Amino acid sequence: MNDVEVAAQITSMKQYFSTAECRSLAWRRMQLKQLLTMTEYHQDEIIAALKLDLNKSEQESWATEIGFVVADIKHTLSHLNKWAKPRKVSTPIVAQLGASYLLPEPKGVVLIMGAWNYPFQLLIAPLIAAIAAGNCAVLKPSELAVNTSILLAKLISQYLDPKAFKVIQGGVTESTELLQQPFDHILYTGGEQVGKVVMRAAAEHLTPVTLELGGKSPCVVDANTNLAVTARRIVWSKWMNAGQTCVAPDYILVDKHFATPLIEALKSALLEFYGEDCQQNADYGRIINKRHHQRLSSYLEGQVVVLGGECDESSLYIAPTLVLNPDLDSAVMTEEIFGPILPIVSVDNLQDVAAFINQRPKPLALYVYSKNQSWVDMLLAQTSAGSVCINDGMMFMTNPELPFGGVGNSGMGSYHGRFGFDTFSHLKAVMKRSFWFDIALRYPPFSRSKLSWLKRLL
Ligand code: NAD
Repeated sequence: MNDVEVAAQITSMKQYFSTAECRSLAWRRMQLKQLLTMTEYHQDEIIAALKLDLNKSEQESWATEIGFVVADIKHTLSHLNKWAKPRKVSTPIVAQLGASYLLPEPKGVVLIMGAWNYPFQLLIAPLIAAIAAGNCAVLKPSELAVNTSILLAKLISQYLDPKAFKVIQGGVTESTELLQQPFDHILYTGGEQVGKVVMRAAAEHLTPVTLELGGKSPCVVDANTNLAVTARRIVWSKWMNAGQTCVAPDYILVDKHFATPLIEALKSALLEFYGEDCQQNADYGRIINKRHHQRLSSYLEGQVVVLGGECDESSLYIAPTLVLNPDLDSAVMTEEIFGPILPIVSVDNLQDVAAFINQRPKPLALYVYSKNQSWVDMLLAQTSAGSVCINDGMMFMTNPELPFGGVGNSGMGSYHGRFGFDTFSHLKAVMKRSFWFDIALRYPPFSRSKLSWLKRLL
């Protein structure tokens, strides 16, 4: 599709958006129910596509993509009426008799660009929010997860209103054409560099953006913790999808006296989860492509590898790998890893970790394992992150009452649950005044006494 055809599509979607039909709550509910049927009915095909793209196991695919989306749709359907209602707010004395409220209205035709690591969920979860808020949407799946992209294009055209929802597949050329269009909102999930490209393009049309980016999410482990549970939770959250998760712990910060026990606990949790020969384990994922495989293998050059390190490019396999005390200027500590390598940085004093974290770009997530609440409170107060999870990894993602999004370099804006609804809505400010009490205080001709009354009232 060339840019003229893309522009024509967006124009026809904008015309459709202006009809009352696609803004009604009944239409939104119908689309959400269709999306639910699509996800449940075709789950085997979705699982098969994810297996081809990332060697995802059935359980991971269900928990992090299909089940996640199903729960999100159900939560949205049960809260939609409440979210869409006018939200009453108070009215100051100077505007009495009057009433004030926020009226959520859909933004219009929005663009949702997904990344390849959770290629189903990262496209459909924002779509749920966009539909709930009453928008039409163009979906751009990542070209790197090609099997899921093809399947999504087929299913969305079968199940959703084709005048309101379109999937445009392709790579940089197609994304660039899309970004030239005057969308009413863009939600982009992916890396920081392309995030800047998206934001620059959006600026041309003053289109608001939500940027769901990544970065290096630190994981701080205090010696005062439940070591076995901590290790299992770190291993679960790090090696899910072979580490290709935006909120995976990127590196560990641990007191130097506690590094060895922690490494031993991580090793035994890895053995328990993936066995002696991880390469033969059907539950362990693969790297998305050769480019990323080469990028990840290069991070290991010159490092002290205390576990794993095996890289097989032909099968896109990289073993779960622990790196001890890397040079802080080496790529593994300056770039987002986004793969199955976990550096362990031992520090002299855990009291100083806030400074370590604050010297680096603001992370998408911060993980803290400790039974010492006052120390945890100190870290919460002194550091910034999109989300924080205390004593677990990425479990905060399961709660639709919590917004999901970054801060600073890890992104802007958020979604999930009502936060997604609000992201794709304009909260129109409405004040309704009574014709009674038309006090002349604010009208000319002005006088000293009018001014002094005004000062008392405001
Ligand atoms: P990607 O390569 O799949 O790119 C994402 C999207 O951007 C795709 O749709 C792609 O077509 C488009 N794109 C790529 N290059 C482009 C260009 N030059 N111009 C316009 N569009 C372009 O994904 P990625 O960037 O490799 O994703 C990995 C990053 O995403 C990591 O940093 C990760 O942390 C982050 N991520 C964040 C989240 C989140 O929810 N915050 C989720 C997943 C991944």
